[in-house]
Amino acid sequence: MDLHTLFLAQTGLLAATAAMLWVSRSDVDHRNGMRRWRWAITSQALAYLVLAIPASGPWAVATGLAANLAGAVSVSLFFIAIRRFAGRSWNVRRLVAMVVAVTVAGAVTGEHVAWAAIFNGFAYAGYEWLNALSLWRDARPETERVQRVVAAFYVCMGLVLPLRAIALLLIGRPGLGLDHDNAWQLPIYAFGFVYLVITNLGFVLMCKIRAEADTRLQARTDDLTALPNRRALDEEMRHALAGAQRSGRPFAVVMADVDRFKMINDTHGHGIGDATLTAFSARLAGALRGPDRAYRYGGEEFCLLLPDTDARGARVLAERAREQVMRPFEGAVHDLTASFGVTAWQAGDTLDTLFRRADRALYAAKSGGRNRVEIG
Ligand code: GH3
Ligand code: MG
Ligand code: MG
Repeated sequence: MDLHTLFLAQTGLLAATAAMLWVSRSDVDHRNGMRRWRWAITSQALAYLVLAIPASGPWAVATGLAANLAGAVSVSLFFIAIRRFAGRSWNVRRLVAMVVAVTVAGAVTGEHVAWAAIFNGFAYAGYEWLNALSLWRDARPETERVQRVVAAFYVCMGLVLPLRAIALLLIGRPGLGLDHDNAWQLPIYAFGFVYLVITNLGFVLMCKIRAEADTRLQARTDDLTALPNRRALDEEMRHALAGAQRSGRPFAVVMADVDRFKMINDTHGHGIGDATLTAFSARLAGALRGPDRAYRYGGEEFCLLLPDTDARGARVLAERAREQVMRPFEGAVHDLTASFGVTAWQAGDTLDTLFRRADRALYAAKSGGRNRVEIG
């Protein structure tokens, strides 16, 4: 395959990728950087399309300017998209300076595109390295593998671009056009092809994996209190039960129910009731040790799952939580107390028997006068 064919294939790939990203755009794209990425790939496709038009004389100056402007804008937008995905900021002034420098260089070099390639090679390589760094350093566990592969390709391109620029300089004929005796650049263009596929597919996959993880998290989180919800509790209880059956490691469960909560709603309205529940849940979660977790079971009922804890240890913790939630807090409209039912895992337990015991203990705490802890 000759250089020109590869170049046209790359142009087609860019235009098709940009078109697909426009077809599949969605409202949430701005959150993960996909909107920037879509504009970046569009701008890059435009740069390649302009470069593919044969031009000479003043037209070469115009196409050199337009192609390099679009190319530099796309490099900036790719950079911004990645920074946005990584949750990092970017310096607009530095990006504008790079775009202006590349555009001016593109216009000045005109039809001698190899000179522009040399200049851009050095200007763009820095961004390739910065992209690699962001992706490598800010990887979240669920996207880590994809991010590292994409980062590796940015590193490679960060090496290829300046090396090609040096080679063009050493060859001493940078004034020549794209097609002239440039067969040695074939592997570079072939690599560029793979690079485009990997970085684009990689970014799309990163966004997809993150969206899935966010949805999963949302489905397991209670909207009001931001604690894990009943679905999360059931999953993690099954997990704890299986672990206890396998290895005999104990765990304990505490059911907590706010006392006379209906009165808060009836007296002050649901808004205050909601705020009270949020404050209560923060207090409850704040009373826990490292591996313990609090869940919103439903309504004004909460559940604590305490790994490696027996009934006695769970009772101590429940007492501490009871005292914590009683302490007055800002905006409190009512003395707040809660009752607690504690139980520890016993061999042969199922989800049902465990919850039933904890519920019975909670009921005993309520009927024993509330604001107390009972073991079941
Ligand atoms: P007890 O001491 O026996 O537990 O009395 P209680 O009033 O706390 O219990 P009851 O079951 O009679 O009432 C619970 C109330 O909690 C009723 C319900 O409207 C309210 N509730 C449940 N979920 C929410 C919520 O998300 N927000 C608000 N504001 N209220 C809620
Ligand atoms: Mg209650
Ligand atoms: Mg209740």
